[in-house]
Amino acid sequence: MSQANKKTPYEIAQEQFDLAAEFMGLEEDLRAILRVPKRELTVNFPVRMDDGTVRSFTGYRVQHNTTRGPGKGGIRYHPGVSLDEVRALAMWMTWKCAVVNIPFGGAKGGVIVDPTPLSLRELENLTRRYATEISPLIGADGDIPAPDVNTNQQIMAWLMDTISMHHGHLESAITTGKPLGLGGSLGRSDATGRGVSFTVAQAAKFLELDLDDAPTVVQGFGNVGSVSALMLHELGCKIIAISDVNGGIYNPNGIDPHALIKHIKRTRTVVDYPGCDRVTNDELLELKCDVLVPAALEEQITGANADRIRPKIIAEGANGPTTPEADRILFANNVMVVPDILCNAGGVTVSYFEWVQDLQSFFWDEDEINKRLKLVMDSSFHAVNDRAQAHRIPLRQAANILAIERVAEATRLRGIYP
Ligand code: GLU
Repeated sequence: MSQANKKTPYEIAQEQFDLAAEFMGLEEDLRAILRVPKRELTVNFPVRMDDGTVRSFTGYRVQHNTTRGPGKGGIRYHPGVSLDEVRALAMWMTWKCAVVNIPFGGAKGGVIVDPTPLSLRELENLTRRYATEISPLIGADGDIPAPDVNTNQQIMAWLMDTISMHHGHLESAITTGKPLGLGGSLGRSDATGRGVSFTVAQAAKFLELDLDDAPTVVQGFGNVGSVSALMLHELGCKIIAISDVNGGIYNPNGIDPHALIKHIKRTRTVVDYPGCDRVTNDELLELKCDVLVPAALEEQITGANADRIRPKIIAEGANGPTTPEADRILFANNVMVVPDILCNAGGVTVSYFEWVQDLQSFFWDEDEINKRLKLVMDSSFHAVNDRAQAHRIPLRQAANILAIERVAEATRLRGIYP
C-alpha cells in the first residue's frame, strides 16, 4: 500500500471498533458515542531553548471515554505524533482498561517533538509548559497521564510537580509511572514487559508450545521491548533477533538480553553488538520464529508483509502494530495474535495499583504487586481466549467485544445526561 492511501491509526481503531460492534449487534446510538473521542485538546505553546531562542510546539490530550472512571493513558514525545494518532491511542486505552477491568476510561497525550537532541533543561521546560497547557483536563479523578514512547519517570515527576505547584500542595495521584521516591509504585517500570511475558506464557500453554529454546524476535528495545526480552529469556525463550530505531541484530544461537543491555549503556544502540548479523526492521519481522513481539510503533505488520510473518504467537507489546488487513491474513494462517489492549495492559494495570496506593498513602511490596498483576493478566487472557475460541474469532475481536460490552453496560447504567 502506498503512503498516500495508508490508513491512519484512528481509521484503524474505528475499523476494529466497527467489526466488534457489528459482531455483538451493538445499538446504533452507543456506536455513535463510542466510536469517537469525548474530548480533544490541541495546545500550541512556546519553549525557551538553551541558546535563548523560543521554539513553538504543538501537543494534544484526548479523552476517548470516561464512563468507567478517569481518563488514563500515556504521553508520548515523537516527531510523528498527530491528532489522529492520539485519538486512536486514547480509544485503545479505553478498551485496554475495560479488558483488564480496571476502573479507568481512556486518554492519551502527545507532543510533536524529537526529544533526543534536547538538553535536560529544554526537556523540563517543554514538559512543564505542556503540563500547564493541558492542566484543565488533568487530575486524579479526571485524567491521569503516564509514560509512553520517549517519556519516563522524570517527565512524570515534572508533570506532577507542575500541577501540584498550581494547586499549592502535592498531588501525587495525578500521574503514574513516577519515581519511587515520589509515590511511584514498585514493579511499575517492568510492568508492561512482565505482562507481555505472562500473556505469552498463557498463549503458549494453550497452543501446547514449549517455550524452552523457542526462537523469539523482539522489535523495539525501549522500556517495553527490553523488559519483554528479559522476561521471555527468563521463561526459556531463545531471543534470536532484536532491533531499535537504528536497525536490528540477528543471531540464530541466541542473544543474551542482559549482556545486550550492558552494551547499550555504552553505545546507546543494539547495532554493532558482537557476534550478530545486521538485519533491517522489515527483515526482522519476517524471521522464522515461534514468538514475535512487536514493541515499537504502529502499523508494522500490514497487508504487505503479513503473509510472510508466520510465528506461532505475536505478542503486541506496542499499541496498534497490526493493521486490520494483516489481522485477517494472520488469522487465516493460524497465527495467534495476542492484541495490544490485552498483551501490553500490564503497564496500565500497575498504574492503577500506583494510583490506588497514592490515594490511600499506603504502599505495597513488589511481590504483592507482581502477584496481583499476574492474576489480572492471566484471568483477562482466559476471558478473552475463551470468548475467541467459542466464537472462532481472533483474540483482538474477542478483546474488543469484552471491552465494549463493559463500557456499553456502564453507559446504559449511567444514562444520558441531562
Ligand atoms: N502508555 C502505556 C500504555 O499504552 C501505559 C498507560 C498508563 O499506564 O496509563 O498502555
